[in-house]
Amino acid sequence: MSCSSDGVFTNGKLVPYGPIELNPAAAVLNYGQGLLEGLRAHRKEDGSILLFRPHENALRMKIGAERLCMPAPSVEQFLEAVKLTVMANKHWVPPFGKGSLYIRPQLIGSGAILGVAPAPQYTFVVFVCPVGHYFKDGLSPISLLTEEEYHRAAPGGTGDIKTIGNYASVVSAQRRAKEKGHSDVLYLDPVHNKFVEEVSSCNIFMVKDNVISTPLLTGTILPGITRRSVIEISQNLGFQVEERLITIDELLGADEVFCTGTAVVLSPVGSITYRGRRKVLQPNYLFFSSCAI
Ligand code: PMP
Repeated sequence: MSCSSDGVFTNGKLVPYGPIELNPAAAVLNYGQGLLEGLRAHRKEDGSILLFRPHENALRMKIGAERLCMPAPSVEQFLEAVKLTVMANKHWVPPFGKGSLYIRPQLIGSGAILGVAPAPQYTFVVFVCPVGHYFKDGLSPISLLTEEEYHRAAPGGTGDIKTIGNYASVVSAQRRAKEKGHSDVLYLDPVHNKFVEEVSSCNIFMVKDNVISTPLLTGTILPGITRRSVIEISQNLGFQVEERLITIDELLGADEVFCTGTAVVLSPVGSITYRGRRKVLQPNYLFFSSCAI
């Protein structure tokens, strides 16, 4: 689906998966004017297909688009495109428990421009791919390496929207962590380098004395849809939930730590390495499974 300067997206159509044509001067290629989203389609036991709160992804894309001076498809257009793409690929949605169909909507400045300014044209694309677990060991506890040199996002930057540039800044830290045998990177805040922020593609929670805490959204953390859902579900289950600043020392002293995200779903954290010392944590599967309903 495309849109010119009038801001109205039209001409959406299903096309076979393949490369898309882009002008080398496209704003997305030169100035990073691009947003992405991630959702999963699950097949329920009765065979029907379930999307998890897709309107939340549409709204997050709208907020990101405003920040990057881009027009966004309406929530209805977003949902329609996602549904059409999923239904055209419904044979790829695996049975419940055997993976899911990952859905990747993208909004890019596809128009050519030289000089930093909003693109004259935009393209909205949705593609899908069947996936299994995000981490190679499935839902086994993951190991996080705390990063002190690189930050995921800068104050006043774009850390709270799902823009492509945020991921470019973390590729090297991610590679280094994997080379050292860790599952992922834990980022600290860019000002004090001591408050926990999030992981490369998921939010983080800790449990201490039955209180569930997650870092406050200070502008450099992505407001995860799974994060919000876990907060709501936990509160409905009667847990006390706090959104607040959490130091790395506090996290290391937690009874339990877990990550949330569309890709990672709910992943227990089995160890956190900080300044060369590895803290082993014991995931509490009772709590974990009570949240996974
Ligand atoms: N943080 C980052 C940096 C992410 O890329 C993601 C994945 N979208 C998340 C957190 C989790 O967000 P959600 O629960 O909406 O998938």
